[in-house]
Amino acid sequence: MPEPPKFYTVSDLVRVHTCPVRYYYERNEPFAESDRYAVCKQISYHLGDPLDAEVIWAEVLVVRPKIDPSLREFLDICIAACNKGTWQPAEETDVMVRSEKQGLTGMIDRVLPDGSFSIVRSARAMPIGTFAADRLRVAAIALCLGEMTGEPVQGGHVEYIPDGVSRYHTVQPRDLRQLITTLYKIRFMRDGEVPKHPLNAPCVRCRHMEKCESTRGRRLSDLL
Ligand code: SF4
Repeated sequence: MPEPPKFYTVSDLVRVHTCPVRYYYERNEPFAESDRYAVCKQISYHLGDPLDAEVIWAEVLVVRPKIDPSLREFLDICIAACNKGTWQPAEETDVMVRSEKQGLTGMIDRVLPDGSFSIVRSARAMPIGTFAADRLRVAAIALCLGEMTGEPVQGGHVEYIPDGVSRYHTVQPRDLRQLITTLYKIRFMRDGEVPKHPLNAPCVRCRHMEKCESTRGRRLSDLL
């Protein structure tokens, strides 16, 4: 079995939060970003400047040469949505942050001129607020950034590119509780323990459903 990592990523944290059993099953599989994310991420480099679809699509093809060509239409939809709003251009992009105390690393997609940060999402926005996983992302990055700068970080923006919506989320105590609980679950697995099936796991369409049905109520370690 490979040596467990000393640092976990914010992406690991979110995957464990979604379902620790799925994370456990897939822990040795390479993590691949989606075509949708590749498009949204590329748009994000141009926010605050005119969004030229041809230029951005050419960049997407460099980054992801085998992308499904139908995503070109998605790019147009995203650009039309983003053009309805006003965006701050980034001071810096792709800034790594880390917390030595928590053994956590993450990446800020855009550092904004006012010093705040944003993360880029390829999901549609909720009517109000932010998704639980995005609140966890913001809390984790704020924690890392706070440790690096020595100043508390109150929150961050979540940019839902397909809807052209940016939402600021102020980190709440419940986000930090969720963060601590999820870190605890990751460490539990790192120490060789196997996770329990969560009661509210998002099992619909999960490719491990059959395996989970047969292991429910039994120790996963007996079967793996
Ligand atoms: S079927 Fe449900 S419990 Fe099992 S790995 Fe998938 S989401 Fe998790």
